[in-house]
Amino acid sequence: MTLLMMGSHNLTELRDAICCISDLQVCGEFSGTPDVAPDFICKDHFKSAFFFFEGVFYNDMRFPECRDISVTTVEWAKSHNFPPFTQAKMEDTLLQDLRLKVGFPYLYCHQGDCEHLVIITDVRSVLLFCHLVSRQETSTSYHQ
Ligand SMILES: [Zn+2]
Repeated sequence: MTLLMMGSHNLTELRDAICCISDLQVCGEFSGTPDVAPDFICKDHFKSAFFFFEGVFYNDMRFPECRDISVTTVEWAKSHNFPPFTQAKMEDTLLQDLRLKVGFPYLYCHQGDCEHLVIITDVRSVLLFCHLVSRQETSTSYHQ
């Protein structure tokens, strides 16, 4: 899956754009009503998730039922003298604010143990392009 995102998008928008079959699974007991479509899928029940970029766990904490599912790893790392990891909220982090390496594999984890590699393959500066277009438009209107 390849996604095109803007720096002004936040990490929850990236998360919501990622499609995974684990989110669509039906959870519960429905053998008594096999023909009835369930009201909820796993994505509705298990909303916790995180991205891991450059030593920072970005947790999705948008909903009251969200839990920090990175805390186990953070505490384990502390107790084993690994370099400290930090945590932040996914919904408060814009893509343009991330420190990352292009082409490096990062982690997206959701549904407790469904893990995906996230690789930023390209970063472009749209501001420079917009500035150039703006200057061209100004120049064009000046000559008319
Ligand atoms: Zn998944």
